[in-house]
Amino acid sequence: MQQLKQLIFEAEKKRIAIGHFNISDIAGLKAIFKAAQELNLPVIIGVSEGESGFVGMRQTAALIKSLREEFDYPIFLNSDHTHSLEKIKEAVEAGFDAVLFDGGKLPIEENIQKTKEVVDYVKSVSASQGTDILVEGELGYLGGSSKILTEIPKDASINKEDLTKPEQAEQFVKETGIDLLAPAIGNIHGMFKNVPNPNLNIKRIKKLREAAGVPLVLHGGSGIRDEDFLAAIDAGISTVHINTELRLAWRKGIDAALKDMPEEITPYKILPSAVEEIKKVVEKRMKLFNKLD
Ligand SMILES: [Zn+2]
Repeated sequence: MQQLKQLIFEAEKKRIAIGHFNISDIAGLKAIFKAAQELNLPVIIGVSEGESGFVGMRQTAALIKSLREEFDYPIFLNSDHTHSLEKIKEAVEAGFDAVLFDGGKLPIEENIQKTKEVVDYVKSVSASQGTDILVEGELGYLGGSSKILTEIPKDASINKEDLTKPEQAEQFVKETGIDLLAPAIGNIHGMFKNVPNPNLNIKRIKKLREAAGVPLVLHGGSGIRDEDFLAAIDAGISTVHINTELRLAWRKGIDAALKDMPEEITPYKILPSAVEEIKKVVEKRMKLFNKLD
C-alpha cells in the first residue's frame, strides 16, 4: 500500500487534495470511512488532543489500523494540533501515521526550536522502525477551536500583514525539517452559521508553496467557499482539514433521530442518523477536493 507521503505528493501533482476529517466517536469514523470507500479515495482521520482524550490515543490508532488491514485501505491517522512533545510521543508510540506540532501561537524562534525537537524525535523513531511518520508544523495562528463562530477569533492571523510570510516559511521549514506546513492564509478554525468564512489569499498560497518547498495543509476548511477551495488547491494546497462541519452534521443527525423517535434509548438506533449526516458532508467535500463533479 502507498505511504501517506507519496499520496500527498501525487495529489499535489494532480492538483487535487486529500481530505483530513476529525472524529470524536465511532459514528464519525464510520461515516468518513464509508464515504471514502464509496469514492475509492485515500483519507486521513484526525484527532485533536480533546478528541483523542475522549476516544483514547491507542484506541483510535487500533480502530484505524483495523480498517486499514481488514479492507487493505489507504486510511491514515494524524495527531491534529498537538501542543507538547509528550503528547507527540504518545501518538507516535500508539502508531499514528502523522503528527501536527502546533506552535502557531509561539514566537517564531521558539516555534522553530520546539518543532525541531519534535522532528528529531519522530525521525529517529521512524528510522528505527523503518516507517515514515510525517511531521507537520504550524506557522501563524488560526484561532482556537472547531465551533460555530459569531466573530473572527481574537488574535487569528487574518489581516494581510499577519498572514504567514514566504521568507518565514522558508526559514521555518529549513531549520525544523518538517514534512508539511500549515500556514495562515486567511483561514480560521470554526465557521460562521449563515455566511461563508473569509476569503483565502490564493496568491500567498502560491508564494508559500514555492518558498516552503514542502506540501501545504489547509486548516479550518469548514465554511470556506467552493471556489476558494479549488483555487487554493490549484495554488498548492494538497491536504484539507474539515472538522466543524462534521460536528454540526453529527448534532443535526442526533437531533433529527431524537425528534423522530422521542422514546428511543438504543444508541445504535439513534447514531446511524448522525453517520448519514456526516457521510453526506464528507462525500461532498471529497468530491470537491478531488474535482469529481
Ligand atoms: Zn486545524
